[in-house]
This record gives sequence, C-alpha cells and structure tokens, in this order.
Amino acid sequence: MSGTPASGVPRLVLATHNKGKLKELRELLRGQVPGLDVDTQVVDAAAAGAPDVAETGVTFAENSLLKARAVAEATGLIAIADDSGLAVDVLGGAPGIFSARWSGSHGDDVANLNLLLAQLSDVPDPFRGAAFVCAAALAVPGPDGIARETVEYGQLEGTLLREPRGEGGFGYDPVLQPQGMDRSCAELSSEEKNAISHRGQAFRALLPAIVSALSEPLSEPNAN
Ligand code: IMP
Repeated sequence: MSGTPASGVPRLVLATHNKGKLKELRELLRGQVPGLDVDTQVVDAAAAGAPDVAETGVTFAENSLLKARAVAEATGLIAIADDSGLAVDVLGGAPGIFSARWSGSHGDDVANLNLLLAQLSDVPDPFRGAAFVCAAALAVPGPDGIARETVEYGQLEGTLLREPRGEGGFGYDPVLQPQGMDRSCAELSSEEKNAISHRGQAFRALLPAIVSALSEPLSEPNAN
C-alpha cells in the first residue's frame, strides 16, 4: 500500500515529552508540506506510543540519532529527535551532553545552574564564553529498517552571566546572554528565543529533509 494517510493519522513523530519543542516543530512545518495537518499528524512520543530511549551516545549527534532511529523503528513513522546542551569554553565544552545532570540528579535545573556558577565564580568576564548547542536527527523508516537518516546542527553563542536573570525559559537560560544582546535567554519571549535558538537553527536546517521525507509515498514493511 502507498499513499497519503488520512487527516488525523500521525505521519511524523518528535521523540520528546516536551510540549514546547513539539509546538516549535509544528510552527516550523505549518504550510510547508501540502496535505500535512501539523496539529494532528505531527505528534510527540507519548501520542505515537514511542518508547523512551536511553541516551548512551557520547555526542549530541549520536544521542539524537539513537533516539530518532529507535522511535522510527518502533512506530514505523518518520521520526525526529534532538539532543542539546550547554558548552562552556573554559570547561572544554562541558557540561555538554551531561547538561541535564551536571549536579548529579537528572533535570534539576536550579542545582545544575548553581553548580556551574560556583565553578566559574573566579573566571573573568572575557573568558565566560559559552554556547547552547543542538543536534537534530531525522530517521525515515523503510521496508528493511531505517532507509535514510540526516543530522543537522545549531548553535547559540553568548556569555555566561554571574547571577541568574529572568523568569522565562528553562535550564541554563537565566545565565546565558546571547551575543549582541543585553538580556539573558530567560528574559526573551519564546518567539525571540525560538528565532535565534540552537534548536530552531537545527530544526530549520533539517526542514528540507523533513519536507522531502513527508512528500514521498509510504512504503510497506517487508512481510519476510
Ligand atoms: P535536551 O536535550 O533538550 O533535553 O536538553 C538537555 C539539557 O541541556 C537541559 O536539561 C538543559 O539543562 C540544557 N539545555 C538545552 N537546551 C537549552 C535551552 O534552550 N536553554 C537552557 N538550557 C538548555
């Protein structure tokens, strides 16, 4: 069988439980693929019944690919996954892939941020460069497993502040001031942040591959 699935049938899954990321991807794809209803056909991991995937890679790209492949194989849908973090110049790129658990417990944003500020307390301003980095991967399922995969990158460079500033965003947003701005990422609106963010850049770079994958007829898995 091949053809375009009916409206409401998922076609693309984003391997995340983060509703903000799903919203960002839907807005990026809106109007880009004829016949694609982004609000019902672009779904997150829970809606697609996708498994949680352990991030056992040692680079952002490896982790994003691991997640995209596993979710595409489990669901038979085109899958996108991203992996991101903060890379600090004087820490040689750390926390990097360990950004979410830098203080030891996964996802404790306040503890992670406070530990980082303490580690950098003696570092003078000219050496406080850092960047949010993101790898976004696309995996397209085929008759015999993954037919095609693509990875793209994005980077938001800036300076680390000495104190958290702002109430918006998440993670390290209150301490990263993007280059050329006088506000932290937590002081930007979500539209302002999405327009310059590492994830926005990576998703936009992946857009041609996503559009091309969604424009192809579906393939049926081999029976044998
Ligand atoms: P994830 O790969 O998007 O889950 O991000 C991993 C971790 O990197 C998060 O828990 C945050 O600590 C950090 N991080 C990634 N992107 C951002 C961002 O846009 N702002 C602040 N922190 C981020």
